[in-house]
Amino acid sequence: MSSLFEDDLPVIRVALPVPLRRCFDYVLPPRLQNHYLPLGARVRVPYRNKELIGVIMQRQVVPEIEPEKLRPVSDLLDDGALLSDDQLKLAQWLARYCHAPVGEVVSLMLPPLLRQGGVAHIQEEAYWQLTLSGRQLDPADMKRATRQAALLTELQKHEQPVAASVLRALGFTQSQMTALEDKGLARYEMQTRQAPELKQAPKRAVLAQLSLPLNDEQAHAVSHVSGLLHCNNTSLLQGVTGSGKTEVYLQIAEAALKKGQQVLVLVPEIGLAPQTVERFRQRFSVPVLTFHSGLNDKERLDAWLLSRNGKAGVLIGTRSAVLTPFKDLGLIIVDEEHDASYKQGDGVRYSARDAAVVRGSMLSIPVLLGSATPSLESLYNAREGRYSWLKLNQRAEKASQLPEVYLHDIKTRRMQSGLDAGLIPVISSHLEQGGQVLVFINRRGFSPALMCHECGWLAQCEQCDARMTLHKEPPRLHCHHCDNIQPIPKICPNCFHAELKPVGSGTERTEEVLEQAFSDWPVYRIDRDSVSRKGAMEKVLAKIHTGEPCVLVGTQMLAKGHHFPEVSLVVVLDADGGFYSADFRGLERMGQLLTQVAGRAGRASRRGKVVVQTHHSEDELLALLAGHDYPEFSQRLLEQREEGLLPPYTYMALLRAESHRVQDVDSFLQNVLQTTRTWGQQPDIQLSDEVEVTGPMPAPMERRNGRYHMQVWLQSPRRASLHSRLDLLVQAIEAEPLSRKVRWSLDVDPQEM
Ligand code: ADP
Ligand code: ZN
Ligand code: ZN
Repeated sequence: MSSLFEDDLPVIRVALPVPLRRCFDYVLPPRLQNHYLPLGARVRVPYRNKELIGVIMQRQVVPEIEPEKLRPVSDLLDDGALLSDDQLKLAQWLARYCHAPVGEVVSLMLPPLLRQGGVAHIQEEAYWQLTLSGRQLDPADMKRATRQAALLTELQKHEQPVAASVLRALGFTQSQMTALEDKGLARYEMQTRQAPELKQAPKRAVLAQLSLPLNDEQAHAVSHVSGLLHCNNTSLLQGVTGSGKTEVYLQIAEAALKKGQQVLVLVPEIGLAPQTVERFRQRFSVPVLTFHSGLNDKERLDAWLLSRNGKAGVLIGTRSAVLTPFKDLGLIIVDEEHDASYKQGDGVRYSARDAAVVRGSMLSIPVLLGSATPSLESLYNAREGRYSWLKLNQRAEKASQLPEVYLHDIKTRRMQSGLDAGLIPVISSHLEQGGQVLVFINRRGFSPALMCHECGWLAQCEQCDARMTLHKEPPRLHCHHCDNIQPIPKICPNCFHAELKPVGSGTERTEEVLEQAFSDWPVYRIDRDSVSRKGAMEKVLAKIHTGEPCVLVGTQMLAKGHHFPEVSLVVVLDADGGFYSADFRGLERMGQLLTQVAGRAGRASRRGKVVVQTHHSEDELLALLAGHDYPEFSQRLLEQREEGLLPPYTYMALLRAESHRVQDVDSFLQNVLQTTRTWGQQPDIQLSDEVEVTGPMPAPMERRNGRYHMQVWLQSPRRASLHSRLDLLVQAIEAEPLSRKVRWSLDVDPQEM
């Protein structure tokens, strides 16, 4: 063998998907000692009494345990590095920052099939398509072969070749496909599953469609970021709704693609971004792939591999796309950077936006964060000069104006299931003039509570400290916290009266009220329940895009990303939630949501109207939002945060724990805090007094899913102090016997309380 690896010690350090914050050492068996074992390749190793798949993090290590105790690697799964250097570096950063096991981070970076040991090759499959005679033949002429006729009918529906796996899923067999081929009616080609995207026209040209001439603000943003390719820098693009942020993304992406680099675009939810994906696909002749949880395992693997081998020019994806490999990544765009869905809510609780910024700096490439309503964290970074601050203050389309917003005080008004009855004629007049009307209510279901009119009994979830939500489609009581479902009682279980009444409204009830009030126009409801079936969202969107007058009622799904050019009136049923929220981010979220919802109105040439129902029409913050002054609104909130010593002026972490036994949770948290304090008295450990510890205390909803939830807040004006305290805390937790009895998690920069 070559002398290159002679001095390799045959011990490697492997990241394994186990909840321990360490890697594991294994010795190479003789048959693998002549192999080149690249960092980032997968190995199969024994762990306790099973085998696990891990990733090589280090070679030639001096083992941490006695050499006799080392167990041998069972198998090497990859010839080369599966995870790139930059992914491994990112994994290590994330593990440190989130105080998460590096093995779990590494495992997040692998698509499920690779996690399970699958081969890292792009697999091809047969794609079937009709020949000319197949297109012309009437299936009715294939009298005796009814299944073949059905297959012919199916293929006649498609212009594009159809994957054999899709046909099999529709119930056709391989021999039926081959029979059509034998008759000269169909033929197949082997293609990768992402083939339609990869087969796009000429490869040399980047542009498939001309870009738009930019206005001055857009042009400045594009030239600023395109001028910094190959440099590390983060820019915040703050552009009002409709200001043409997407066009800016497209033209900066174009600059990177023309240098032969790849572009990663993060979006909050792929289902809400079909228009963005479409615009990238229309604009560029390079393949534009998507990466999100809606793909099946094979599609995910292919997209991952095609991004890794450089075939994907643009990858548009949700949160976990920030962890995918690239051959030559040149630019990261984070659209709607304020969106809470960038934060992972379980497991490794990372923020994809923050990970994007870190990855950009590791790779020395620009990162562009875009939003009409940037997070206070990003605004703070922009104000402090850490990010370039690019602004688009005008709507891009000449005739388009920001809507007029009215704060409509509903104190003492006559309400009809959450809607001021006085607004009904206003809505009618918009419909009569051919406009569409969007009614926004941020609560799904029929009503958030079911009450006995006789004794005041309320339907409670047995598992949670929460009320059951009444749904009518299908009829049920549903707990939105643990998914517990119960039949709707006919009589009160407490006093046996039959007068059970829904209290308050959700989307279903609002839909019902609107259907009664506007029986001449269609009413469409858009919420998680109504669009849960595949394709349902597309169907409603298609109806809306016909431009016919209609009423849309929905949750924040409606506020994200969609363009509804014919919407001339938006009604926000309840703007006040943020004022009563226990979460210090409540007002920020309220401002973002209101601004985004209002932004749906009047995108075309007519100026839209927005009516906001509130009990606080005199409130200054609401008035700023109504005046489209999100910048001043966010400035005020930043001042409040500074005074309150809250993020982004301080750094926070939240230790959560839960168990069936409240005593276990409490003791667990008390013990680990006590252990850290005791350690802090040792001379070699300094506990910084800059970290403020609050708790243990019950979580906002103490009992959830039959378990007791408690938490401890940690807060510090210095990030480093917070992190060194967290390091100690995690050590204390791992040494604490009760940690095996409770479920616990550590959330750095928590987004929810
Ligand atoms: P945003 O993402 O900021 O809400 P979009 O990028 O969707 O806004 O742009 C809103 C509309 O303005 C789109 O219809 C887009 O085609 C149009 N648009 C964007 N830039 C220009 C431009 N420079 N000239 C004319 N129209 C533009
Ligand atoms: Zn009762
Ligand atoms: Zn529940």
